[in-house]
Amino acid sequence: MLKTKTPLNSTLFIAIISAYFSFMLNVKFWQFAVEKIEIDGFSVALFALTLPFFIFIPLFWFFSLIFVPRIGKPLVMLLLVLSAASDYALQNLGIVINSDMIRNFAETNLREASDFITLRAVAYVLIVGVLPAVWVYRTPVRFSSLKKEVKTRLLLFLAGLLTIGLIASAVYKEYASFGRNNSQVRYYINTFNYIYAVGRYYKRSADTKRKFVILDRTPQRLPNSQNKPRVLVLLVGETARAANFSLYGYEQNTNPELSRNKDITVFQNVSSCGTATAVSLPCMFSHLTRKRFNLTDAQYTQNLLDIAQSAGYDVFWKDNDDGCKKVCTRINHVDAKDGNKAPYCFGDYCHDDILLDGLENGLKDIKKDTLIVLHMMGSHGPTYFKRYPDKFKRFLPACDTANLQNCSQEQIVNTYNNTILYTDYVISSVINILNRQPQLQSGMLYASDHGESLGENNLYLHGLPYAIAPDEQKKIPMIMWLSPDLQKALRLNRSCLNEKAATQSFSHDNYFHTVLRMLFIDTTAYDRQLDIFSRCDGSQTSAT
Ligand SMILES: [Zn+2]
Repeated sequence: MLKTKTPLNSTLFIAIISAYFSFMLNVKFWQFAVEKIEIDGFSVALFALTLPFFIFIPLFWFFSLIFVPRIGKPLVMLLLVLSAASDYALQNLGIVINSDMIRNFAETNLREASDFITLRAVAYVLIVGVLPAVWVYRTPVRFSSLKKEVKTRLLLFLAGLLTIGLIASAVYKEYASFGRNNSQVRYYINTFNYIYAVGRYYKRSADTKRKFVILDRTPQRLPNSQNKPRVLVLLVGETARAANFSLYGYEQNTNPELSRNKDITVFQNVSSCGTATAVSLPCMFSHLTRKRFNLTDAQYTQNLLDIAQSAGYDVFWKDNDDGCKKVCTRINHVDAKDGNKAPYCFGDYCHDDILLDGLENGLKDIKKDTLIVLHMMGSHGPTYFKRYPDKFKRFLPACDTANLQNCSQEQIVNTYNNTILYTDYVISSVINILNRQPQLQSGMLYASDHGESLGENNLYLHGLPYAIAPDEQKKIPMIMWLSPDLQKALRLNRSCLNEKAATQSFSHDNYFHTVLRMLFIDTTAYDRQLDIFSRCDGSQTSAT
């Protein structure tokens, strides 16, 4: 019954296997898609229709890569059985397949594992995994010459790329929005889910054996002649792009508060380190530049906060975003969302004014040099409308849904502008609060982690690979405010700094070293070349 006499050509064989994996071994994925996709318009219908290609093509690429004579068949057979088991588990055990799951599995003894092996599970794997594996075993496959095989596969790879490109150009918004609203979906796409998870698991196991790198054991604070505690507030923005700040030339007035403040310095041309929080945030606080930055290296190396703490600063991180991405592991940190505090919070999220809650009283009590990091929720999409109180809903009509595909371009931009308007208020409030503390030598530095696409070239949200990401995702606002005392202590020529800020280029590479200067920390980790203030060194003598 299972035996096929005539040999199949390799391309056809790969296509059959890819189709089988796409549909029979991705039942959980398709159940999930059917449940979540609500077809309420042409573009969503087009998205749903293209989804099978979106699953099939990467699988086809994958099998084109691994299906070579001799090892191809055993690999496919192994993956058939594993994928059947994985899909069964996804469908029936309510799990996701990530590196934690692989660890559970690898560290579970045989008796515990056997609890999962029911008769139904065995029958499922036999029918959906083992039987097709037998078919693969018994089906002869005809390979062409090496040259011809490579040529065919390369051409098909390009055809697949073209198809995906066409799909993306038509319904990118739907894909971005579906992926963002259902991020767990990546754990459901079979074969890739557990291959990726196993890779992550091994990488993590290797990482735990790594040694933590201390950049400087004895960083020192320079003497302070003013006898006032030094307080620096680092306001870390989220998804704010420079293009929509009126301070950066945007035609709508999204910065009514900050644009009235004559004491701020606005850095006009600043590039982010990454296009997503998970990269940008650790990169900002790392001494490594974007070109040399590596996430794991950064996690196992002293960062800006560690050095400040080691130099004697009280360091404190308050988070209203999705956590500090391991940047604050070794310092005091709180999640502002804990406690669901009124009137700021609404279940799983809070407006950014929760970061202002208690700030002024806290500053009044400060006796020691202190570094405070406030991590904003900022303009986190796609639920822009949840980022601000009603009072800031000034750009209308807004897009009051997470399903960006249901909104016009104008609505999306309006809603995003409201988040910037609110961010303008939060930054201004921090400055005003600091300004009311003459007993402190204080400063504030605001920088966003990355930008956002709002439909330019049909792109939405962020996270594209840096090399191809558009400027909307990479150009970020960076704004500095220094109290008169701090300016004096830095011996700063403000007109020089403002002139550099207006005309020169900067990036997250400058963040670490500039902040060290603002904290007066003498450390071997400091690189003067990257310190923004060094561009005005030697010009202190002119009027300030
Ligand atoms: Zn971010």
